[in-house]
Amino acid sequence: MKLSIFQRLFLPRKKEIESLIDKIIDELRFIETNDKGIIITNSDKEVVEQFNWYDIKDVELVNGFSEGEISFTLNNGEQKSIPEEHHESWYELLKKIPQGFSKYDYEGVRAFFDNLKGCEICGMMSVYEGECLACGEEEWKEEFLDEYESKEEYIRELQLDEFEPIDDEEAVISNKPKSGFKSFEGWKLMINSQYFNK
Ligand SMILES: [Zn+2]
Repeated sequence: MKLSIFQRLFLPRKKEIESLIDKIIDELRFIETNDKGIIITNSDKEVVEQFNWYDIKDVELVNGFSEGEISFTLNNGEQKSIPEEHHESWYELLKKIPQGFSKYDYEGVRAFFDNLKGCEICGMMSVYEGECLACGEEEWKEEFLDEYESKEEYIRELQLDEFEPIDDEEAVISNKPKSGFKSFEGWKLMINSQYFNK
């Protein structure tokens, strides 16, 4: 929807929200890994960082899994760091680090993924310490009864948020594997795409 200048004058709040969304999109980075190495792009699909596996001397995970950073020491002594924050597919990158780097805790990474629980909201195997690493929502707990009538209501509300299409796009409601997370077999959908048909 395009706003007229007149509408814009009287909708400062909408404008603020738009600029906030612009800022978030601006900071987003997308990680792509392949046989050769890592490519990081921005929302305009411009390459902002790129290096090859053979350029890397060692890899280390710092600050743990929920606010972690993957730190690379390159053969030329340079340090590169890829934080989880703002980086799509960061968890997938954790799984794709090639074997053979002495500081990388392959066993710890495997155990981390094996111990994730299913998210009842987005349907991925991605709940860590009560929070979903895929959709960012909190796992249901009894305290939420202050705000929600039931667990079902909580899940339905958040599924609506999670799968609401942007602009006029068609709603895509799915839990197929993404960003390094597997599908949660026990996922139950509380909504259907008719919720979004206006
Ligand atoms: Zn989730």
